[in-house]
Amino acid sequence: MKNNSKYWIVTDLDGTLMDENYDISPARKTLNLLAELNIPVIPCTSKTASEVRHFRNENGLFDPFIVENGAAVYGYDDNNSSEWELILGKSYNELRIILMNISKTINYKLTPLNDLNHHQIFELTGLTDQGIKRALDRQWSVPFLNPPEEIFEKVKLICELHSVHVFKGNRMSHLLSSNSHKGEAVNKLKLYLNNNEVKIIALGDSQNDLPLLEYADLSIVIPGKDGPNHYLKKGIDSGSFRLADAPHAQGWSNSVEDVINNIIA
Ligand SMILES: [Mg+2]
Repeated sequence: MKNNSKYWIVTDLDGTLMDENYDISPARKTLNLLAELNIPVIPCTSKTASEVRHFRNENGLFDPFIVENGAAVYGYDDNNSSEWELILGKSYNELRIILMNISKTINYKLTPLNDLNHHQIFELTGLTDQGIKRALDRQWSVPFLNPPEEIFEKVKLICELHSVHVFKGNRMSHLLSSNSHKGEAVNKLKLYLNNNEVKIIALGDSQNDLPLLEYADLSIVIPGKDGPNHYLKKGIDSGSFRLADAPHAQGWSNSVEDVINNIIA
């Protein structure tokens, strides 16, 4: 990737570029167009590095990528020979102990994804063998089953005491170190690539995308089939975030092409 790119497309994957069946096909034409225009597409996701490496290979993406909700950033040097890594957060094992302590404090068992058996993970994610293996390869965050809304709010309050925070994705919640989130990860990447001038065009669909959408220069919310996530409505209503006109990859494609035609071109 050229270090002097003027724009980066920084995008969430699940629910944003992909629908619930992990399909991105309506966005493929737009991804090809971005490649022709040399505009980097930077995945920014709760997925693991193993999962995103696989996703990039399958979809012909070559730019850096942000994983585990912003806890780490990866990319390749110019001749694509070695991978570099920026770590923002605490290790999985440290975070797991903190999750157990929070569970005790609120007297509600928060269940890490990695504690489920393969059948339970399949039910939750639709992933099978290799996909599950890649999803469990967690280094810097602990995904856990979404608790009821009032428990999630309680967890949020207690997190501060432990220097961690929680984000809610589509299928799971995630515990991360408090100095790591999707917005901070993009900031670290800008510094690392020495590109302070780049304009960030961000796309997301859930509460875990808020720090990214708040950080970006242009923020696009991708709705689900029932409309936008309620955590993102405030930003849409205030005019800070744009709302795509269709769910998932189709909305992604329409919004990005609109940006290409009206801002970048
Ligand atoms: Mg998402």
